[in-house]
Amino acid sequence: MSHARIWRGVIAQFFVGGLIAYLTAALVMGFVAEIIQITGLHTKTTEAIVALIFLISGPVYGCISAAREYRDCVREQNKQRGFCMECGYDLRESRHRCPECGTPIGARADKKV
Ligand SMILES: [Zn+2]
Repeated sequence: MSHARIWRGVIAQFFVGGLIAYLTAALVMGFVAEIIQITGLHTKTTEAIVALIFLISGPVYGCISAAREYRDCVREQNKQRGFCMECGYDLRESRHRCPECGTPIGARADKKV
């Protein structure tokens, strides 16, 4: 997997994750704004807090999604090269566990976090 391909995936995940976060935040924060109105807690401060949470939700979750994508790509690359998926140690001479970090060889191959 080339670096350009990895970074294209990471950038795509940033925007997809950000979009999902904005859509979710629009639903949740709209509900929260209604509750604030109904309960009489509506002030400039509460309005600003709701708006701030909405605005930062996209970039924050976008970064989390991008970091996950990068981690998955690095693990996949390590697996293809015969290296430990967790620490990148060369496992070509090892049978059951990574001698560096103790991760069972092949145990995390199917695990998608
Ligand atoms: Zn390892």
